[in-house]
Amino acid sequence: MSYVTTKNLTKRFGDNTVFENIQFSIEQGEFITLLGPSGCGKSTLLRSLAGLNPVDGGEIWVSNEEITHQTPQQRGIGMVFQSYALFPNMTVEGNIAFGLKMKKLASTEIQREVAKVIDLVDLKGKEKQYPHELSGGQRQRVALARALVVKPRILLLDEPLSALDAKIRKHLRQQIRDIQKEMNLTTIFVTHDQEEAMIMSDRIFLMNKGQIVQAGTPEEIYTQPADEFVAGFMGHYNLVDADKAKQLFNIDSQSKVAIRPESIYVKEAGRQYGQHISAPQTGTIKNHQLLGNVIRYQVAVDECELTVDLLNRSSERLLTNGSQLELLFNLNEIQPVRA
Ligand code: ADP
Ligand code: MG
Repeated sequence: MSYVTTKNLTKRFGDNTVFENIQFSIEQGEFITLLGPSGCGKSTLLRSLAGLNPVDGGEIWVSNEEITHQTPQQRGIGMVFQSYALFPNMTVEGNIAFGLKMKKLASTEIQREVAKVIDLVDLKGKEKQYPHELSGGQRQRVALARALVVKPRILLLDEPLSALDAKIRKHLRQQIRDIQKEMNLTTIFVTHDQEEAMIMSDRIFLMNKGQIVQAGTPEEIYTQPADEFVAGFMGHYNLVDADKAKQLFNIDSQSKVAIRPESIYVKEAGRQYGQHISAPQTGTIKNHQLLGNVIRYQVAVDECELTVDLLNRSSERLLTNGSQLELLFNLNEIQPVRA
Protein backbone atom coordinates (compact mmCIF):
# COMPACT_ATOMS: atom_id res chain seq x y z
CA MET A 1 0.00 0.00 0.00
CA SER A 2 1.16 3.55 -0.72
CA TYR A 3 2.14 5.92 2.09
CA VAL A 4 -0.81 8.29 1.64
CA THR A 5 -4.06 7.08 0.08
CA THR A 6 -7.49 8.64 -0.27
CA LYS A 7 -10.65 6.76 -1.20
CA ASN A 8 -13.82 8.48 -2.50
CA LEU A 9 -13.02 11.68 -0.61
CA THR A 10 -15.96 14.10 -0.80
CA LYS A 11 -16.40 17.62 0.57
CA ARG A 12 -19.38 19.96 0.45
CA PHE A 13 -20.04 23.44 1.79
CA GLY A 14 -23.87 23.54 1.91
CA ASP A 15 -25.06 22.87 -1.66
CA ASN A 16 -21.60 23.45 -3.10
CA THR A 17 -19.80 20.15 -3.73
CA VAL A 18 -16.16 21.23 -3.73
CA PHE A 19 -14.86 17.77 -4.65
CA GLU A 20 -16.31 14.31 -4.98
CA ASN A 21 -14.73 10.84 -4.96
CA ILE A 22 -11.13 12.02 -4.96
CA GLN A 23 -8.77 9.04 -5.11
CA PHE A 24 -5.00 9.15 -5.13
CA SER A 25 -1.94 7.38 -3.79
CA ILE A 26 1.36 8.97 -2.83
CA GLU A 27 4.61 7.16 -2.06
CA GLN A 28 6.80 7.98 0.92
CA GLY A 29 9.21 10.82 0.12
CA GLU A 30 7.33 11.96 -2.99
CA PHE A 31 6.90 15.65 -3.77
CA ILE A 32 3.40 16.09 -5.17
CA THR A 33 1.99 19.34 -6.51
CA LEU A 34 -1.73 20.09 -6.64
CA LEU A 35 -1.95 22.41 -9.62
CA GLY A 36 -5.08 24.08 -10.91
CA PRO A 37 -6.94 27.35 -11.42
CA SER A 38 -8.20 29.43 -8.53
CA GLY A 39 -11.34 27.97 -6.93
CA CYS A 40 -10.85 24.38 -8.16
CA GLY A 41 -10.62 23.03 -4.60
CA LYS A 42 -6.86 22.77 -3.92
CA SER A 43 -6.89 24.48 -0.51
CA THR A 44 -10.01 22.66 0.61
CA LEU A 45 -8.45 19.31 -0.30
CA LEU A 46 -5.23 20.19 1.54
CA ARG A 47 -7.13 21.38 4.62
CA SER A 48 -9.16 18.17 4.58
CA LEU A 49 -5.95 16.12 4.64
CA ALA A 50 -4.69 18.23 7.56
CA GLY A 51 -7.95 17.76 9.47
CA LEU A 52 -8.89 21.46 9.31
CA ASN A 53 -11.98 20.75 7.15
CA PRO A 54 -13.98 17.64 8.06
CA VAL A 55 -14.94 15.64 4.95
CA ASP A 56 -18.46 14.49 4.04
CA GLY A 57 -17.41 11.07 2.80
CA GLY A 58 -14.49 8.83 1.99
CA GLU A 59 -11.28 7.85 3.74
CA ILE A 60 -7.76 9.14 4.25
CA TRP A 61 -4.99 6.66 5.05
CA VAL A 62 -1.41 7.38 6.08
CA SER A 63 1.08 4.58 6.59
CA ASN A 64 -1.62 1.88 6.93
CA GLU A 65 -3.60 3.89 9.47
CA GLU A 66 -6.96 5.50 8.80
CA ILE A 67 -6.80 9.16 9.89
CA THR A 68 -10.07 10.45 8.36
CA HIS A 69 -11.60 11.36 11.71
CA GLN A 70 -8.49 12.19 13.72
CA THR A 71 -7.89 15.70 15.08
CA PRO A 72 -5.23 17.81 13.31
CA GLN A 73 -2.84 17.22 16.25
CA GLN A 74 -3.18 13.43 16.04
CA ARG A 75 -2.30 13.30 12.33
CA GLY A 76 1.34 14.28 12.49
CA ILE A 77 0.95 16.60 9.50
CA GLY A 78 2.75 19.94 9.16
CA MET A 79 1.18 22.80 7.23
CA VAL A 80 2.47 26.07 5.78
CA PHE A 81 0.08 28.71 4.46
CA GLN A 82 0.48 31.60 2.01
CA SER A 83 -0.07 34.09 4.85
CA TYR A 84 2.68 33.21 7.26
CA ALA A 85 0.36 33.01 10.29
CA LEU A 86 3.22 33.65 12.74
CA PHE A 87 2.68 34.86 16.31
CA PRO A 88 3.58 38.59 16.07
CA ASN A 89 4.53 38.88 19.75
CA MET A 90 6.98 35.97 19.66
CA THR A 91 10.55 35.93 18.36
CA VAL A 92 11.68 33.65 15.55
CA GLU A 93 12.85 31.19 18.17
CA GLY A 94 9.61 31.46 20.14
CA ASN A 95 7.50 30.86 17.03
CA ILE A 96 9.48 27.79 16.07
CA ALA A 97 9.59 26.38 19.63
CA PHE A 98 5.83 26.73 20.13
CA GLY A 99 4.82 23.29 18.84
CA LEU A 100 7.47 21.57 20.93
CA LYS A 101 6.40 23.44 24.07
CA MET A 102 2.84 22.23 23.44
CA LYS A 103 4.24 18.72 23.34
CA LYS A 104 5.90 19.43 26.71
CA LEU A 105 9.42 18.52 25.61
CA ALA A 106 12.33 19.27 27.95
CA SER A 107 13.76 22.75 27.38
CA THR A 108 17.24 21.48 26.47
CA GLU A 109 15.70 19.26 23.80
CA ILE A 110 13.57 22.16 22.53
CA GLN A 111 16.66 24.34 22.22
CA ARG A 112 18.53 21.64 20.33
CA GLU A 113 15.69 20.92 17.88
CA VAL A 114 14.98 24.62 17.27
CA ALA A 115 18.67 25.29 16.56
CA LYS A 116 18.71 22.40 14.06
CA VAL A 117 15.80 23.69 11.99
CA ILE A 118 17.01 27.30 12.18
CA ASP A 119 20.19 26.03 10.58
CA LEU A 120 18.23 23.98 8.03
CA VAL A 121 16.14 26.93 6.81
CA ASP A 122 19.11 29.32 6.91
CA LEU A 123 17.89 31.69 9.65
CA LYS A 124 20.99 31.69 11.84
CA GLY A 125 21.43 35.09 13.51
CA LYS A 126 17.68 35.90 13.34
CA GLU A 127 16.67 33.93 16.45
CA LYS A 128 15.80 36.97 18.59
CA GLN A 129 14.01 38.98 15.90
CA TYR A 130 10.25 39.49 15.68
CA PRO A 131 8.17 38.74 12.56
CA HIS A 132 7.73 42.45 11.70
CA GLU A 133 11.53 42.80 11.54
CA LEU A 134 11.80 40.11 8.84
CA SER A 135 11.32 40.12 5.06
CA GLY A 136 8.53 38.05 3.49
CA GLY A 137 10.94 35.32 2.48
CA GLN A 138 12.38 35.12 6.00
CA ARG A 139 8.91 34.97 7.54
CA GLN A 140 8.00 32.12 5.25
CA ARG A 141 11.16 30.29 6.32
CA VAL A 142 10.09 30.71 9.96
CA ALA A 143 6.71 29.21 9.04
CA LEU A 144 8.50 26.34 7.30
CA ALA A 145 10.79 25.78 10.31
CA ARG A 146 7.80 25.77 12.63
CA ALA A 147 6.15 23.06 10.53
CA LEU A 148 9.36 20.99 10.29
CA VAL A 149 10.44 21.15 13.94
CA VAL A 150 7.74 18.73 15.10
CA LYS A 151 9.00 16.15 12.55
CA PRO A 152 5.75 15.73 10.61
CA ARG A 153 4.99 12.56 8.64
CA ILE A 154 3.67 14.72 5.83
CA LEU A 155 4.27 18.36 4.93
CA LEU A 156 1.47 20.36 3.29
CA LEU A 157 2.25 23.72 1.68
CA ASP A 158 -0.58 25.95 0.42
CA GLU A 159 0.81 28.48 -2.10
CA PRO A 160 3.68 29.33 0.28
CA LEU A 161 5.51 31.35 -2.36
CA SER A 162 2.64 33.33 -3.90
CA ALA A 163 3.12 36.45 -1.79
CA LEU A 164 6.85 36.70 -2.50
CA ASP A 165 8.64 38.53 -5.33
CA ALA A 166 10.10 36.55 -8.23
CA LYS A 167 13.72 36.33 -7.12
CA ILE A 168 13.00 35.27 -3.51
CA ARG A 169 10.40 32.88 -4.84
CA LYS A 170 12.88 31.04 -7.07
CA HIS A 171 15.42 30.81 -4.25
CA LEU A 172 12.92 29.57 -1.69
CA ARG A 173 11.37 26.96 -3.97
CA GLN A 174 14.81 25.42 -4.47
CA GLN A 175 15.43 25.54 -0.73
CA ILE A 176 12.11 23.81 0.02
CA ARG A 177 12.86 21.10 -2.53
CA ASP A 178 16.40 20.54 -1.15
CA ILE A 179 15.16 20.23 2.45
CA GLN A 180 12.32 17.94 1.38
CA LYS A 181 14.75 15.63 -0.44
CA GLU A 182 17.24 15.65 2.41
CA MET A 183 14.54 14.66 4.91
CA ASN A 184 12.79 12.32 2.45
CA LEU A 185 9.62 14.10 3.56
CA THR A 186 6.35 13.23 1.83
CA THR A 187 5.11 16.62 0.64
CA ILE A 188 2.01 18.03 -1.02
CA PHE A 189 2.50 21.52 -2.42
CA VAL A 190 -0.27 23.70 -3.82
CA THR A 191 0.21 26.23 -6.60
CA HIS A 192 -1.64 27.74 -9.55
CA ASP A 193 1.69 28.39 -11.30
CA GLN A 194 2.53 25.73 -13.88
CA GLU A 195 6.23 26.60 -14.09
CA GLU A 196 6.58 26.18 -10.32
CA ALA A 197 4.78 22.83 -10.54
CA MET A 198 6.95 21.62 -13.44
CA ILE A 199 10.22 22.54 -11.73
CA MET A 200 9.51 21.27 -8.23
CA SER A 201 7.44 18.11 -8.50
CA ASP A 202 7.99 14.38 -8.71
CA ARG A 203 4.38 14.21 -9.85
CA ILE A 204 1.66 16.76 -10.56
CA PHE A 205 -2.03 16.25 -9.78
CA LEU A 206 -3.76 18.65 -12.14
CA MET A 207 -7.13 19.73 -10.75
CA ASN A 208 -10.16 21.31 -12.36
CA LYS A 209 -13.58 21.88 -10.78
CA GLY A 210 -12.98 19.52 -7.86
CA GLN A 211 -11.55 16.68 -9.95
CA ILE A 212 -8.01 15.44 -10.43
CA VAL A 213 -8.11 15.47 -14.23
CA GLN A 214 -4.61 14.09 -14.74
CA ALA A 215 -1.84 12.77 -12.48
CA GLY A 216 1.66 12.19 -13.77
CA THR A 217 5.26 13.35 -13.93
CA PRO A 218 5.78 16.92 -15.16
CA GLU A 219 6.97 15.52 -18.48
CA GLU A 220 3.92 13.27 -18.90
CA ILE A 221 1.51 16.08 -18.08
CA TYR A 222 3.28 18.50 -20.40
CA THR A 223 3.76 16.18 -23.38
CA GLN A 224 0.67 13.96 -23.10
CA PRO A 225 -2.24 16.13 -21.94
CA ALA A 226 -5.30 13.95 -21.31
CA ASP A 227 -7.89 16.50 -22.32
CA GLU A 228 -8.51 19.98 -23.68
CA PHE A 229 -8.36 21.54 -20.23
CA VAL A 230 -4.89 20.12 -19.51
CA ALA A 231 -3.65 21.11 -22.98
CA GLY A 232 -4.89 24.65 -22.36
CA PHE A 233 -3.47 24.89 -18.85
CA MET A 234 0.00 23.49 -19.55
CA GLY A 235 1.87 25.58 -22.09
CA HIS A 236 0.20 27.01 -25.17
CA TYR A 237 -1.04 23.97 -27.05
CA ASN A 238 -2.76 24.47 -30.38
CA LEU A 239 -6.10 22.65 -30.42
CA VAL A 240 -7.20 21.68 -33.92
CA ASP A 241 -10.64 20.29 -34.85
CA ALA A 242 -10.73 16.76 -36.32
CA ASP A 243 -11.67 17.94 -39.84
CA LYS A 244 -8.90 20.54 -39.85
CA ALA A 245 -6.45 17.90 -38.59
CA LYS A 246 -7.19 15.82 -41.70
CA GLN A 247 -6.62 18.85 -43.91
CA LEU A 248 -3.44 20.16 -42.21
CA PHE A 249 -1.67 17.02 -41.04
CA ASN A 250 -3.46 14.30 -43.04
CA ILE A 251 -4.35 12.38 -39.90
CA ASP A 252 -7.67 10.79 -38.95
CA SER A 253 -8.96 11.56 -35.47
CA GLN A 254 -12.30 11.20 -33.70
CA SER A 255 -11.56 14.17 -31.43
CA LYS A 256 -9.63 17.41 -31.49
CA VAL A 257 -5.86 17.06 -31.67
CA ALA A 258 -3.23 19.04 -29.77
CA ILE A 259 0.21 20.17 -30.95
CA ARG A 260 2.68 22.31 -29.03
CA PRO A 261 3.94 25.59 -30.54
CA GLU A 262 7.52 24.25 -30.40
CA SER A 263 6.62 21.13 -32.41
CA ILE A 264 5.88 23.24 -35.49
CA TYR A 265 8.84 24.18 -37.68
CA VAL A 266 9.45 26.67 -40.46
CA LYS A 267 10.72 24.89 -43.57
CA GLU A 268 14.31 25.72 -44.45
CA ALA A 269 15.44 25.44 -48.09
CA GLY A 270 17.80 22.56 -48.85
CA ARG A 271 17.21 20.81 -45.54
CA GLN A 272 16.16 17.14 -45.38
CA TYR A 273 13.29 16.21 -43.06
CA GLY A 274 12.50 12.75 -41.66
CA GLN A 275 9.39 10.59 -42.12
CA HIS A 276 7.80 11.99 -38.98
CA ILE A 277 7.59 15.49 -40.49
CA SER A 278 4.40 16.37 -42.37
CA ALA A 279 4.09 17.81 -45.88
CA PRO A 280 4.48 21.62 -45.80
CA GLN A 281 1.54 24.00 -45.44
CA THR A 282 1.67 27.63 -46.45
CA GLY A 283 0.87 30.11 -43.71
CA THR A 284 0.75 33.88 -43.21
CA ILE A 285 2.08 35.60 -40.10
CA LYS A 286 -0.71 37.55 -38.39
CA ASN A 287 1.16 38.68 -35.33
CA HIS A 288 4.16 38.04 -33.17
CA GLN A 289 5.26 38.54 -29.58
CA LEU A 290 8.83 38.72 -28.38
CA LEU A 291 9.06 36.62 -25.22
CA GLY A 292 12.82 36.99 -24.90
CA ASN A 293 14.49 33.75 -25.90
CA VAL A 294 11.44 32.74 -27.92
CA ILE A 295 9.38 34.54 -30.54
CA ARG A 296 5.75 33.46 -30.52
CA TYR A 297 4.08 33.80 -33.93
CA GLN A 298 0.38 33.65 -34.73
CA VAL A 299 0.17 32.05 -38.17
CA ALA A 300 -2.96 31.66 -40.30
CA VAL A 301 -3.12 28.43 -42.30
CA ASP A 302 -6.39 28.14 -44.25
CA GLU A 303 -8.99 29.08 -41.61
CA CYS A 304 -6.83 27.85 -38.77
CA GLU A 305 -4.76 30.11 -36.55
CA LEU A 306 -1.73 28.39 -35.06
CA THR A 307 0.74 29.44 -32.39
CA VAL A 308 4.33 28.73 -33.45
CA ASP A 309 7.33 29.23 -31.13
CA LEU A 310 10.75 29.79 -32.68
CA LEU A 311 13.99 30.29 -30.80
CA ASN A 312 15.12 33.90 -31.05
CA ARG A 313 18.56 33.03 -32.43
CA SER A 314 19.25 36.25 -34.31
CA SER A 315 17.40 39.52 -34.83
CA GLU A 316 17.98 39.17 -38.59
CA ARG A 317 15.72 36.15 -38.63
CA LEU A 318 12.65 37.90 -37.20
CA LEU A 319 9.74 37.20 -39.54
CA THR A 320 7.51 40.21 -40.13
CA ASN A 321 3.74 40.34 -39.92
CA GLY A 322 2.13 39.59 -43.28
CA SER A 323 5.02 37.48 -44.57
CA GLN A 324 4.46 33.95 -45.82
CA LEU A 325 6.19 30.80 -44.70
CA GLU A 326 6.02 27.04 -45.08
CA LEU A 327 5.12 25.22 -41.88
CA LEU A 328 6.06 21.64 -41.07
CA PHE A 329 4.52 19.60 -38.26
CA ASN A 330 6.17 16.95 -36.13
CA LEU A 331 3.58 14.17 -36.53
CA ASN A 332 4.92 12.25 -33.50
CA GLU A 333 3.91 15.17 -31.30
CA ILE A 334 0.32 15.48 -32.49
CA GLN A 335 -2.13 13.80 -30.18
CA PRO A 336 -5.87 13.36 -29.81
CA VAL A 337 -7.35 15.00 -26.70
CA ARG A 338 -10.70 14.37 -24.98
CA ALA A 339 -13.15 17.26 -24.82
P1 ADP B 1 -8.47 26.89 -4.53
O1 ADP B 1 -7.60 26.70 -3.33
O2 ADP B 1 -8.21 25.86 -5.61
O3 ADP B 1 -8.43 28.26 -5.08
P2 ADP B 1 -10.63 26.51 -2.62
O4 ADP B 1 -10.41 25.14 -2.09
O5 ADP B 1 -10.21 27.65 -1.78
O6 ADP B 1 -9.99 26.61 -4.08
O7 ADP B 1 -12.17 26.71 -2.93
C1 ADP B 1 -12.94 25.75 -3.62
C2 ADP B 1 -14.40 26.06 -3.49
O8 ADP B 1 -14.82 25.91 -2.13
C3 ADP B 1 -14.78 27.47 -3.88
O9 ADP B 1 -16.00 27.43 -4.55
C4 ADP B 1 -14.92 28.18 -2.53
O10 ADP B 1 -15.83 29.23 -2.63
C5 ADP B 1 -15.43 27.08 -1.64
N1 ADP B 1 -15.03 27.26 -0.25
C6 ADP B 1 -13.76 27.19 0.24
N2 ADP B 1 -13.74 27.37 1.57
C7 ADP B 1 -15.03 27.58 1.97
C8 ADP B 1 -15.67 27.82 3.23
N3 ADP B 1 -14.98 27.88 4.37
N4 ADP B 1 -17.01 27.98 3.23
C9 ADP B 1 -17.73 27.88 2.07
N5 ADP B 1 -17.20 27.66 0.86
C10 ADP B 1 -15.85 27.51 0.79
MG1 MG C 1 -6.30 28.08 -2.41
